[in-house]
Amino acid sequence: MNEERMKKDGAAEKCYAFPNSPTPGMPVVIDETRCTGCNKCVTICTTDVFVANPEKGKPPIVMYPEECWYGGCCVGECPEECLTMRHPLMMRVHFKNKETGDIKRT
Ligand code: SF4
Ligand code: SF4
Repeated sequence: MNEERMKKDGAAEKCYAFPNSPTPGMPVVIDETRCTGCNKCVTICTTDVFVANPEKGKPPIVMYPEECWYGGCCVGECPEECLTMRHPLMMRVHFKNKETGDIKRT
């Protein structure tokens, strides 16, 4: 698209970004009913997984889930406790006590 056409369509002034939907796992899930949109999780995340919602007070957007390191800083920082970490399947190792049946996570 040439520059003149972009200006005519308004595309030169707008920038669009969409979450990466083909990513197999969603590392963090936000309970949107409790999130206040304080953006503390956005600020603490060193790999910029989140993008602040353009609408003030709305939950952040998990824009780059594939960049998550699964450290959980965002979960610890959230004052509303509305962030849930979802580890990939291969990280969900647990051990079962054969005698008692108790399950222990590593
Ligand atoms: S776990 Fe760490 S890397 Fe992943 S979204 Fe939270 S703060 Fe960012
Ligand atoms: S820290 Fe919690 S309440 Fe604040 S924007 Fe993130 S998910 Fe929402």
